[in-house]
Amino acid sequence: MAGVYVHIPFCKQACSYCDFYFTTHLLNKADFLTALLSEIESKPAYLNNQVVETIYFGGGTPSQLETRELNTIIDCVKQHYNVSEKPEITVESNPDNLSRDYLQSLYNIGVNRLSIGIQSFKNEDLELMNRAHNCKEAEQCVSIARGVGFKNLSIDLIYGLPNSSLKDWKSNIKKALKLNPEHISAYNLTIEKGTPLAHSVAKGRVNIPSDEEIVMQHNTLVSSLNTAGFEHYETSNFAKKGYRSQHNSSYWKGTHYVGFGPSAHSFNGNSRSWNIANTKKYVDSMRKGKSYSETEILSEIDSINEFILTGLRTVEGINLQHFRSNFGEKADEQLMKESQSSISKGLLEKTENRLAITSTGKVLLDGVTAELFFE
Ligand code: SF4
Repeated sequence: MAGVYVHIPFCKQACSYCDFYFTTHLLNKADFLTALLSEIESKPAYLNNQVVETIYFGGGTPSQLETRELNTIIDCVKQHYNVSEKPEITVESNPDNLSRDYLQSLYNIGVNRLSIGIQSFKNEDLELMNRAHNCKEAEQCVSIARGVGFKNLSIDLIYGLPNSSLKDWKSNIKKALKLNPEHISAYNLTIEKGTPLAHSVAKGRVNIPSDEEIVMQHNTLVSSLNTAGFEHYETSNFAKKGYRSQHNSSYWKGTHYVGFGPSAHSFNGNSRSWNIANTKKYVDSMRKGKSYSETEILSEIDSINEFILTGLRTVEGINLQHFRSNFGEKADEQLMKESQSSISKGLLEKTENRLAITSTGKVLLDGVTAELFFE
């Protein structure tokens, strides 16, 4: 199994907290599409004919493209890669540009999973984040998507928002559950250096909730979604039975994937590559017939640490049998030795074939993972 990721860099406006690669200039969209299609055509060898089970449009905001443009990209992937009969095709989108006609057309071209960046149902939060939508659009787009036939909907939410209380967060969760999505991704807001939000925090214009408040919001999230029948299958991801994101799950399992577009990453088991995060330079380089990317060959230690990092993010944890067969007995002994302290503190649990983070450990995931890293 393999995956395809397509990065669409265009956004309607800049969210105040965002440090993903995006551009608000749509002027060079035609040039971008030409470059993107030529990159897709140029890389089929990367996946070595492995069956592509997932195609994921991320960004930026992929729903800034017209559906005929998305369709051309999907056709191009199908033409040049060994795509399975019914791949999971996800498009990330924002509520402000999801009209009924657009959603109907998206569904008709074969997109079968829609991920909607709602983030909050409170207008004050949306304004503070400089999101392009309001809470009415957030609630409406889900029922329109249902109406046109989407059966696999994911909602993105953010907790730990400036000036937010536990009561606000509970209300957001309640509204999200009322919409009955199959999947929810919920992220703790990170104040990224250089963003307008970081500037506001530094100037004291907004208050960030305390660590205790954030832990309470996180714990409320987990217990509310568990009660509502969601499985907490990855650090930030919750799914109803049978609705895990196949694409993102493949990242955490070490599946190979190829990425297209500015800033897109690719991974083939031995190396990791990433395209330049600049649309103009990306387009210029594709015009010259070569991709503008960097590649890192993964050492044995990089591969081990990657295996630990991705394994601990999932509910299944690290598969110890795979760990032993991939990296040998000595590495296995070292992992067991380094994990003892976290096991005794109740942060990790070990069964015969699995080493996984506990619910207490989840709050301290980064620290627990770092203790297991090989040097
Ligand atoms: S829509 Fe997404 S990618 Fe675009 S600016 Fe906002 S958070 Fe960033």
